[in-house]
Amino acid sequence: MIIKKVHLYKIDMKLLSPFSTSYGTVQDRELILLEVEDEQGFTGWGEVVAFSSPWYTEETIQTCFHMLDDFLIPSLLHQQLQKPEDIQKLFKPLKRNNMAKAALDCAIWDLYAKRQNKPLSKVIGGVRSAVEAGVVVGLNDISIMKEQIKTYMKDGYKRFKVKIKPGADYELLKQIRDEFPNIPLMADANSAYTLSDSDSLKKLDELNLMMIEQPLSSDDILDHRLLQKQMKTPICLDESIVSYEDARHAIEQRSCKIINVKIGRVGGMSVAKQIHDLCAQHGVRLWVGGMLEAGISRAHNIALATLPSFTIPGDISASSRYWEKDIIKPEVEVEAGVIKVKGKPGIGYEIDKKFIKTITAFEKEYK
Ligand code: MG
Repeated sequence: MIIKKVHLYKIDMKLLSPFSTSYGTVQDRELILLEVEDEQGFTGWGEVVAFSSPWYTEETIQTCFHMLDDFLIPSLLHQQLQKPEDIQKLFKPLKRNNMAKAALDCAIWDLYAKRQNKPLSKVIGGVRSAVEAGVVVGLNDISIMKEQIKTYMKDGYKRFKVKIKPGADYELLKQIRDEFPNIPLMADANSAYTLSDSDSLKKLDELNLMMIEQPLSSDDILDHRLLQKQMKTPICLDESIVSYEDARHAIEQRSCKIINVKIGRVGGMSVAKQIHDLCAQHGVRLWVGGMLEAGISRAHNIALATLPSFTIPGDISASSRYWEKDIIKPEVEVEAGVIKVKGKPGIGYEIDKKFIKTITAFEKEYK
């Protein structure tokens, strides 16, 4: 396939309610959407999931635009690709900037699946016809968090993740655990702790958590190894794993027992698949992370979650959890805690271009 055209949309969305983590609060959500078109007129879509400021990784929507506009799109246009993974070779001389790369990589996967008239989940080797949905509860007043959990339990969500930070951790989680003794509960610290907090982190072992996600520094692998040795609760790495090599190092060092894969963070579906295969060989369990994303990225996440070793419910919620209206049709729906995988070619959802036009702040076409 040869990519003849790329259309970029910078869109502005607004989360239904503000979302707080140990880093800060998000409500206005800028995103970049990419539509790629090949020589036969097939199209594929990808979404840049970076945030407006560099609180999660170093990338932002602006840095992603710069990378796409000046380097990535020009290096892709008119190149012959045999398979989607070829894009990784093409981008290899351009260091990191994974979220910008991932959006193009995912768009190529969608297009590649459509060329074969097959669902993306099947093309990447997925084995599930439905994926389990988990939900994230942002930091808030404890009574509000408990109410949210009750509502999500009624919706059937299979896993509940609570954001924590120093001062809002053990006591907060204990209150939740006391009220909901049997829910699959986990905590995400978004790297808010250091090894000197080991004693307070070890206390979390009392609470029967499925895992604690990214307790220590966002680029650390070694200290997590030391912490995991002291803790019974499995450590899951998120921010620390930005490449296949990071996953290999973390597994060899026994720094975690679980990995959260975010397609954007690792640079695309191609790398996410490689990390999956590596973890499958080593018995490391996986789940798909979320980025407060819109429907295109959500659809790619659903496809990824159909791979065999994604055995823990991911941060893949219904569109209505975050948005008044999503950019895909139909919207992603969770029924009894599961999302049915679409059988249509590519990501399986129609793109609501008419709606996208109404929220587009800027667009550009590359030929
Ligand atoms: Mg996380």
